[in-house]
Amino acid sequence: MALSELMSTVPLGMALIDPELRFLEVSEAMAAMNGVPRDAHLGRPMAEVLKGTPSGADVIRRVRRVLETGVALEGVEIIHREHGGGTERVRVYRASYHPVRRDGEVVAACIYVEDMTERRRVEAQRDAGAARERAVREQALRETQEAVRARDEFLSVAAHELRTPLTSLRLHLQLLQRQLGISQPALSEQLAPRTQVLERQLSRLGGLVNTLLDVSRLAAGKLSLEPREMDLAQLVRQMADAFAEEFKKAGSELTLHVDGPLQGTWDPLRVEQVLVNLLSNAAKYGAGRPVEVSLVGEGHTAVLAVKDHGIGISEDGMSRLFGKFERAVSERHYGGLGLGLYITRQIVEAMGGSITVRSAQGQGSTFILRLPTQPQPQAQPAMAAR
Ligand code: ADP
Repeated sequence: MALSELMSTVPLGMALIDPELRFLEVSEAMAAMNGVPRDAHLGRPMAEVLKGTPSGADVIRRVRRVLETGVALEGVEIIHREHGGGTERVRVYRASYHPVRRDGEVVAACIYVEDMTERRRVEAQRDAGAARERAVREQALRETQEAVRARDEFLSVAAHELRTPLTSLRLHLQLLQRQLGISQPALSEQLAPRTQVLERQLSRLGGLVNTLLDVSRLAAGKLSLEPREMDLAQLVRQMADAFAEEFKKAGSELTLHVDGPLQGTWDPLRVEQVLVNLLSNAAKYGAGRPVEVSLVGEGHTAVLAVKDHGIGISEDGMSRLFGKFERAVSERHYGGLGLGLYITRQIVEAMGGSITVRSAQGQGSTFILRLPTQPQPQAQPAMAAR
């Protein structure tokens, strides 16, 4: 292919300039950019051809520099503003200037010009789109944060408000039982099953309110620990006894592997709360199958495992279930707020311990709790030790 043929077809602005600053060759595309026919370039001085173009003088200056120094100039941006019809049309070009050598001597300069207008317009559109998307995302994040804050505030107010009538209800029920027992013992005996139901439901309500209180305290970083010397083995045995009835009702046999004692410094009420959560989950999600609880000391760590053979947890469920309000089962089948394991993890981590789960769908679950026997104050980000 002859050079002139190439020049008339190549979609790139190209020109070859001799040392006297005359056009030796020019591509059709470059001619179009200059607004001068290709033939009108050949053999003519740049100054004459580019007289009417907006950046002609700059181009000539750069070509001269390349011819004199032999050093290429890469990626020079040229912006043309064309006015017409009351609007401004901006075109963006990117030019490179290279020396052409023969036997080491610069004998010509080559100009390459790319029209970047369309690419810049697409980039600008993309940037504007990305900025819009970012703004929408940020707005959604702000709204979510506000919704979460409003929820936490509502929880806190609701939990505190619910506590007062609940305490009063409990007190009045106790009073009623006492008075009835004195004045009408036969009737009191007769009503005992009903008052027991009332007591049970009240204590369930109390448990739910406490859970909500814990969540709002955690959100405010105000859940506190009261560590003291205690025997974990004894507490585990006591809790197993307390849960005997519940496991019986669930049709699960509870086996305990605990060699006592296992001394350490923990908050007994908070450890109890953790045990209540793990045991009631085992009874709920492992109903009808055996449950095993084991406790061993490994150096300065107490390791407690609660193993059931129930419904198990999917992989997706396992990654979420220690989160706030996260559940891996449908509400229709199992009631619950999805807060127990969240609170459990916060308590355990505040004590410098950890809780992990091993499970597979349909194959039971094992929750493993590791608690250091001595307090780890540095590991209490969410709670303040009192
Ligand atoms: P809740 O039981 O109130 O839903 P939790 O925070 O205690 O809340 O548990 C979160 C979720 O973890 C449960 O909804 C359930 O999907 C799953 N889960 C907890 N314990 C078990 C278990 N022993 N077996 C199977 N799934 C469990």
